[in-house]
Order: sequence, then structure tokens, then C-alpha cells
Amino acid sequence: MSQNLQVFKFGGASLNSVERIQNVGEILKEMKGQPLVVVVSAMGKTTNELEKIVQAHAEQNGQALTLFEDFKRKSFETCLGLFDESHEVFVSLNDALVEIEWVLEEEPHENYDYTYDQIVSVGEIVSSIIVSAYLNEQGLPTRWLDARDIILTNNIYRAGWVQWKETQENADRIAKPMISSQAFVLTQGFIGTTSENFTTTLGREGSDYTAAIFSYCLDAKSMTIWKDVPGVLTGDPRLFDHVTKLDLLSYKEAIEMTYYGAKVIHPKTIKPLQNKSIPLWVKSFIDPQGSGTYISDEVADNYPPLVAVEKSQALLHISTRDFSFVAEHHMSHLFKMITEHRLQVNMMQNTAICFSICVNDVDDKVSAFSQAIEDQFKVIIDRELELITVRHYQDKILEELRADKIVLLEERIRETVQMVLKNVPVMKRK
Ligand code: ASP
Ligand code: MG
Repeated sequence: MSQNLQVFKFGGASLNSVERIQNVGEILKEMKGQPLVVVVSAMGKTTNELEKIVQAHAEQNGQALTLFEDFKRKSFETCLGLFDESHEVFVSLNDALVEIEWVLEEEPHENYDYTYDQIVSVGEIVSSIIVSAYLNEQGLPTRWLDARDIILTNNIYRAGWVQWKETQENADRIAKPMISSQAFVLTQGFIGTTSENFTTTLGREGSDYTAAIFSYCLDAKSMTIWKDVPGVLTGDPRLFDHVTKLDLLSYKEAIEMTYYGAKVIHPKTIKPLQNKSIPLWVKSFIDPQGSGTYISDEVADNYPPLVAVEKSQALLHISTRDFSFVAEHHMSHLFKMITEHRLQVNMMQNTAICFSICVNDVDDKVSAFSQAIEDQFKVIIDRELELITVRHYQDKILEELRADKIVLLEERIRETVQMVLKNVPVMKRK
């Protein structure tokens, strides 16, 4: 059975309204009678909304319950657009939402990331309850699977690491027997569990990765990510005018592109697929018949320039307080601190007296890190920067990207150029 299995992933944008959920139903009608695992993320921008609830609760600023009521109302409205008032989905929905209420009734937990995962994960649970009930109504029988029964992670909240051995065992024991041509299996992206049964999440946009974990563990014949773009593009269409779709892409190129910040697929997605040679389709839920992008082994590596942009970057220039060289023992201390503060380093450079790193400027991680090393090192921080990576570059493209910007750091390795850029401050008129 399972050699015919396919795995589909539907992200927030494909589920952000009653019409879009109905559209997903239309796409899935074509799959009726075939073994399929469907992975859904939270609807629309739910995850951002739930993040705000977590923050409000932590700050005890009195907003958490109001924000929660908003989310609750929206979820009920979506259901009312799809079902009669008497439908049993409302009971399941209530049961899912009450989990948030319980957390909000408690004092904030000392571990913010723990609370985050307990609250934010409900977005995926709610979404999967609604989609599953809808598909059942449409004559597409669906079996609901709690991804937390399958995906075991370590205890790092908000960035759980998959424990592959146990996850594979759970998949064999629980998920495999559920696969049939009679009913789809429907589960959630993004979430997992610790060995003590606390919910974890895999990091933002992690649902793609979930779909890859299921594809790997269940030996799927292919995986498909349904998106609001026609496939993998040569750049972000929100930032650039002339982007084109790639019909074919190798795993290697896809890994490089996503690692450098191309937002189309979560960076961890490709590796599990590559390990089992499971091809990945990226297709448009708006134009499901479109040709999409096919990512696999069997692709000639010949590409146009591909551009990935990471915003909200900080560049840290770190030097010793006594003007001595930044030596190996300093480096080892710095890397230890980088790990402890969970900074994500995108680029680094070392000169005799200065060690520079470009990192994602999220939460207050950068300040916390620089405070922690301040006694030994002088740190200068440049913020609000962009990191642009161009694979298969041509000089003309680099010129265009650099226009009106200051290049703070640049590196070329073979086919890849990375530049940390700052906008030129606009002169004020008198
Ligand atoms: N809902 C989560 C997020 O928005 C996971 C995902 O969509 O992949 O990050
Ligand atoms: Mg998403």
C-alpha cells in the first residue's frame, strides 16, 4: 500500500477563508481513492495572532483574553461558513480552544518558549479539526491523526529536534495501519511532543518539515507542497519584478536556496526527502493543474541567478577589549555563547582584530548575547540590515541589488555571493 502513498501539505494561505478551504476540498476530490496523508498548518495568519496572545499573557498586560476571544470568534465564524450550527465540529473546536484558556488562567510560566508551544500549537489543532470535518462532509472520508502521537522531539521548545528513531517507530505502529485507499489521513504540521508528553513546535513555517518527516517515515512516493505561487521562483515576487518559475530543481540547489532564506520551503524539508529519493512538487493551489516545480535528484544543474533576501539582520563587530588579536580561545568562547543564546549565524568573517557575524535579529537575542560577552569584548551592532544571497550570479544582477545601498560585508564562494546591505539614509530636505 504505502509505495503509492502521497503526502500533501497545505499551508496557512491555502486555508485562510471559507472559500480557500472549499478549494482544498476540490483539490482533494481528485485524489479520492488514493492513499494520502494531508498535513495542514494553522489557517491564515493564526500563528502570528497566537504569538500575540502568548506575549500578552507573559507581560500580563490585560490583552490576552481579548485577543483570545478574537481568535475564538474567527474560528467559529469559519465553522459557521462551512457547517450547520448543530454540527459536532463545534464540540471538538471548543475542546481544542479550552486548552488555551487553561494556560491563560495560570500565572505565566517561567519558560516563555514552553508556554508559546502550548498555546501556538492550538492553531494547527483547530485547523485540522475544521478541515477534517469539512472533508468528511464532502464525501472525502478522513481519519484525524494527532501529529504528537508520531513526532517525538527533544525538550527545546519552539525549535524541537526530531528524535528520528522513536518517530519512525510511532509512524510504523500508529500511522502506517491508518493508511488506506478508503480514507485520507489528516494531521497537523509544525507540532510534536516531548517524551513527557508536552507539546513542542518545530520552528516557524515548520509544517513543510512535518510533511517531509511523514514522507520519510512512511516511504511516500512523492510529496507536494501547495502554495499561493506557481512553484519555486527565481526570487521573491513581493520584492522583485522579473521572477520566473523553475520547472526543475535539484535537492542540492533547493537546500542551498532555502538555507539562504528563500522563503518558499522550510530549509529542513529537503534532507529527509533526499535521503530516500522522494521527489517534491511545489504547486499552486490557485492553479492546481499548473506544472509547478519538481525537485529531485535527476536534474541537470544549470540555473538562472536565484536571489534570496533575509530581512531583519544584525551585524555584530566583536573585538577584544585589549586590542589583542581575536584568537582561537576567544572564538571557542564566542561560539559557546552563540549556541547558548541560540543565535542563528548567517555569515561570518574574521580579521586580525575583529570577528564579524551576521545574525537574524529576533526577539532580544542580539542584545542578550552582546551583554553576556561585554566584559571581555567590545561589540558594535548594526541593525535593520538585509542579507542578500545570489546563487549563479551575474555581475549585472549584483549591481542592481547593490544600487542605493551600502555593502557592509560581502563574500563570494564559487557560485554564491552574499552581501549584507544597509539602506542609504535619505538626506533630509531643509
Ligand atoms: N503555522 C506555523 C507558522 O505559521 C507553521 C507553518 O505554517 O508551517 O509558522
Ligand atoms: Mg505557512
